[in-house]
Amino acid sequence: MLTTMGLFSGKVGLIMGVANDRSIAWAIAEALHREGAELAYTHLPGPSNERRVRRLVEAHQPKVFLPCDVQSDDDIANVFSAIEDQYGQLDLVVHAVAFAPPAELRNPYVETTRQGWHVAMDISAYSLVAVSRAARGLMESGGSILTISYFGAEKVMPGYNVMGVCKAALEHSVRYLAWDLGPKNIRVNAISAGPVRTLSSAGIAGFDEMQRHAAQKSPLRRNVDLHELASTAVFLLSEMSSGITGEILHVDCGYNIVGL
Ligand code: NAD
Repeated sequence: MLTTMGLFSGKVGLIMGVANDRSIAWAIAEALHREGAELAYTHLPGPSNERRVRRLVEAHQPKVFLPCDVQSDDDIANVFSAIEDQYGQLDLVVHAVAFAPPAELRNPYVETTRQGWHVAMDISAYSLVAVSRAARGLMESGGSILTISYFGAEKVMPGYNVMGVCKAALEHSVRYLAWDLGPKNIRVNAISAGPVRTLSSAGIAGFDEMQRHAAQKSPLRRNVDLHELASTAVFLLSEMSSGITGEILHVDCGYNIVGL
């Protein structure tokens, strides 16, 4: 695990997407916290979600810990207004949020429903636009926004289905957002993460096969781990990557370079 000394001292970050201690967002949050960041958190609405996430994040003593369904403009506005009240500004956003109705990940892609498509796109792709727009107003001294994608955006991964199409939209959205926000020195990047076992990935038919195949075929002959994703997130969120924006950085043990 990469460690430096207070890389994010005095910085304020918003973490969206912690569900439990296996969440990619949580691994990133732990790394940012170790580096001195002050963190605000959102959780999916509902008492059991709140309890589960609160137990985890209370060690970081967040001044902002609020429900946020990214399909709700009011929820998003409420979170950013609370951040403004508490901190007056924001430096970092981690957007690690995705969802598709389970049937859309079980049935063949050609069976994707209009409703399933809308829900998946809204939560998994559009939300980055809405969140970046809200963050822009609080990033007067510049900032860094990070989202998490997957190789299924570029190639067909049987079973990933509409989520692959969402990730393609998410990745290109990263580029358009980078263009719009660049003049304000707000950078927008994505990690294209190799498969790791989490609550979300457990819902993907064929996930075990994705992991097995990646371990056999990637140049490093193994799967990526959460610490490696977190270390790369630290890099992309920090000044160490000040010249990088609109980038989709593969953190997948090299799997994406292999043709056969
Ligand atoms: P996770 O289940 O821990 O995190 C997904 C998060 O999305 C959860 O916290 C959930 O509450 C949140 N979410 C879902 N619907 C939401 C909504 N309407 N509003 C707000 N939040 C909502 O799983 P994870 O694997 O850590 O996923 C984080 C990100 O990483 C996702 O974008 C996922 O697609 C991406 N990713 C995961 C893998 C993997 O193999 N696990 C690989 C590449 C990319």
